[in-house]
Amino acid sequence: MTIPTVTARATAPPGTISTGTASRLPDTRTAADTLAVDGATDATFRRARQMSERIEADLRVDPTAYRVVTGDRPTGDLHLGHYIGTLANRVRLQNAGVPVTVVIADYQVITDRERPGPLRDRVRALVADYLAAGLDPQRTAIFPHSAVPALNQLLLPFLSLVSVAELHRNPTVKAESLASRRTLSALMLTYPVHQAADILCCQGTLVPVGKDQLPHIELARVIARRFNDRYGTVFGEPEALLSSAPVVLGVDGAKMSKTRGNTILLGADEDQTTAAIRAARTDGLRRITFDPPARPSVANLLTIVGALSGREPARIADEIGDGGASVLKALAAEVINESLRGLRARRRELLADPGYLDEVLLDGTVRASVAAAETLERVRAAMGMDYFSG
Ligand code: ATP
Ligand code: MG
Repeated sequence: MTIPTVTARATAPPGTISTGTASRLPDTRTAADTLAVDGATDATFRRARQMSERIEADLRVDPTAYRVVTGDRPTGDLHLGHYIGTLANRVRLQNAGVPVTVVIADYQVITDRERPGPLRDRVRALVADYLAAGLDPQRTAIFPHSAVPALNQLLLPFLSLVSVAELHRNPTVKAESLASRRTLSALMLTYPVHQAADILCCQGTLVPVGKDQLPHIELARVIARRFNDRYGTVFGEPEALLSSAPVVLGVDGAKMSKTRGNTILLGADEDQTTAAIRAARTDGLRRITFDPPARPSVANLLTIVGALSGREPARIADEIGDGGASVLKALAAEVINESLRGLRARRRELLADPGYLDEVLLDGTVRASVAAAETLERVRAAMGMDYFSG
């Protein structure tokens, strides 16, 4: 298990995908792009927030109105940003009767690094985190996208539906490429297209994600729409579902992210969690107020406490008042540790049984393969490629 650290962003991994002058950053990126670490523009974010509210209302009336498909890259263990940003929503929706599929995006690990790393262990740890958080493998299929060839075949028609210029404009691709300090690979550039294949192969129409993913979901919508316009309706247009904390910040004040080393891991122990929160960045003002634009780090801790305890961050701030950052941090550590206690115990038990985790993955892969094969068949039929169907 990785111990949560308070170090700044990890340095660039050694090596680049090519040599010599190719390691210079492409011209399409500017210094301003470094600010776009959480991806989406304000307009996209506003629209997604409004849609999320509308969808929540729809789901209360009919939980089967949407199919949830979402996932994570196996680049490391899951953290509090995942839990609050998307995982808790997946569990809630599953329990409300919404069909849920979770994609482990293993090919996407090599979008911003050269080597996939210890995938087998990381994938098992992801499955353990999912189940420990409450995903039920009877109801929710969990699978790695490398194991479903039909899914990957969707890439070819999808790539024909977007321009290279559109891909270059994607703010999340730009931000992640810049953060990786590597030459922009064709895999990174086409990241949102693979993600569209992940979502659409299982006919996903709702994608619980953090803010950074909004530009990708937007492109998945464009791909679905263009495919339908060109070949006849095969896909629904997927919508993002944001949680109350669309960007959880790490202990250094930047987006909490596996590869930045600024995380509170779901699998960390209570002392590690308390130490990481104590070292988290805050500002010098004594009085605690909830003011996200002016005081992002303080607002982040209040948002975490609010999301985990179902309370309004502004009320929590009022209660702490002049208690200052030390009271806020003590409260945050206590609430996080209490909220994750059961999850952490279950996680430990699950990790002790890798055979069971592999079974869950195999079962999910079989179910996802059936869904993806059906989708591919419909895609081929729509494109006139159904040569052998009689
Ligand atoms: P990496 O650094 O390897 O990209 P990550 O921590 O960004 O890892 P991902 O696997 O890229 O995690 O993201 C999986 C899902 O979790 C996505 O829906 C993403 O939006 C969400 N997510 C990740 N980090 C956060 C965060 N800090 N706040 C809210 N949601 C998050
Ligand atoms: Mg990420």
